[in-house]
Amino acid sequence: MEKSKWHSRDLRVAIVGSGPSGFFATEALLNLDILIQVDLFECLPIPYGLIRYGIAPDHPRTKSIINKFNSLGESNKFRFIGNVNIGVDVNYKELQDYYDVIVFSYGANLPKRLGIPNENLNGIHAAIEFVRWYNGHPHNDHTKFDLSHKDAVIVGNGNVALDIARILGKNVNELKDTDITQYALSSLAASAIKNIHIVGRRSPLQASFSFKDLKEISELNDCTMIVNPNDLDLNQASREELENPQSTYKKLNYRLLENASKNSKCKNGRNIIFHFLKSPVMCNGRDRIESIILEKNVLNGLPESQNAVGTGDKEELKCGILFSSIGYRGSKMNNVPFDERKGVIANIDGRVVNDGEILNGIYAIGWIQRGSNGLLGTNKRDSTRFIKCLLDDLDKINPCIKPDKRYINDLLSKRGIKTTSFSDWLKLDQIEIERGMKHNKPREKLVNINEISDCLN
Ligand SMILES: Cc1cc2nc3c(=O)[nH]c(=O)nc-3n(C[C@H](O)[C@H](O)[C@H](O)COP(=O)(O)OP(=O)(O)OC[C@H]3O[C@@H](n4cnc5c(N)ncnc54)[C@H](O)[C@@H]3O)c2cc1C
Repeated sequence: MEKSKWHSRDLRVAIVGSGPSGFFATEALLNLDILIQVDLFECLPIPYGLIRYGIAPDHPRTKSIINKFNSLGESNKFRFIGNVNIGVDVNYKELQDYYDVIVFSYGANLPKRLGIPNENLNGIHAAIEFVRWYNGHPHNDHTKFDLSHKDAVIVGNGNVALDIARILGKNVNELKDTDITQYALSSLAASAIKNIHIVGRRSPLQASFSFKDLKEISELNDCTMIVNPNDLDLNQASREELENPQSTYKKLNYRLLENASKNSKCKNGRNIIFHFLKSPVMCNGRDRIESIILEKNVLNGLPESQNAVGTGDKEELKCGILFSSIGYRGSKMNNVPFDERKGVIANIDGRVVNDGEILNGIYAIGWIQRGSNGLLGTNKRDSTRFIKCLLDDLDKINPCIKPDKRYINDLLSKRGIKTTSFSDWLKLDQIEIERGMKHNKPREKLVNINEISDCLN
């Protein structure tokens, strides 16, 4: 197949998942100087994935990228097709019939488990459930979180742990003007949580907190950051990590924690208490969590690849609620090659591979390609690399057998699937903004699937 052949008809591209990676890829594809039709599939009726349902409500600037993506809806080379669960409503093989190129960007949303005894006690939650609850994800609007206890534990040392600590630590008056759901705001207003413990298995130097988010914790009103100065005693390998000229953010984080440790006394307001070099080994409680047993660790290994090793020295931390925030795996889609060890689609630099052999025209980007790490901008870099691969591969890609957009529409309507379009989203967007005005909020999200479909009827 020569490149020029694609100039006789549209290159038909299906993107599966409308989070940031799906949108960055859409944007890059629409900027190409070729005939192209991009269909962006999403299992929810509303687009934007973790931009809408992950990023914290008090970080509106980060979410404002939605305004840029909203303008893509004006292109007649692009369709958003919401309410279609790829792998369930339409399978991978069918997508291959209708599209020349398939790009998987469906994220990684299965929380990793702690793998310790009594992990199923009531009061133990995956961090993402709480995040989805305050952000109004339609699958989590009925989840209940018991905030009537004094101590909450968050296991994990990434930015999601800091988001949860901040939401629990803030005074609700600081959240009421955000797009947080009204039901979450009411629950948080009644919260009795006073101490928020963040537990990490390694030292502050290996934590993946971004400096900006850690600094925000240190600047909260009515909430004190507590750091144990002993946790800042570094071993030789960690000192080398700190001295590495490239580790700018580690130095900034370390200095910030050092300053906080000088003034570390729990106060009457709320406290965010950092516990480094400790691993959870068991949860305790009758019907719900009452405490967690932590084992103290030392670090072992070379700089930048140190592992936590248990010392056998244990302590008990009382708590009434626990959030596990230790990362995510992707889910496997039928017939799509999967790397079980990494929990992502099997790929080499974004080209999907089956037993090491590249599948022409099939790509993975974002979290389902490289796992749950990096910021929004990392997904933009993925899309740049994907476009380069696509252009290099164009002459090897086999044209699909049904290259007409009516086929997929017919299939979906035959199966009784009521899809949503980009103009439906823009209508819902407007409704949410108007509902928000009543509460002086940027928007009041529609969180219930039936309510969403009622608004579109
Ligand atoms: C709690 C949290 C807070 C974060 N905060 C920030 C932040 O403040 N700043 C920052 O830069 N980064 C932040 N991130 C990271 C950022 O959100 C990710 O880098 C990014 O969302 C990954 O994009 P993605 O498109 O790969 O996945 P996602 O955003 O997860 O998008 C995947 C999309 O695919 C859809 N989907 C899933 N399965 C299917 C299917 N079978 N068929 C059709 N559609 C499907 C999903 O509904 C979803 O819309 C945060 C992440 C989390 C978890």
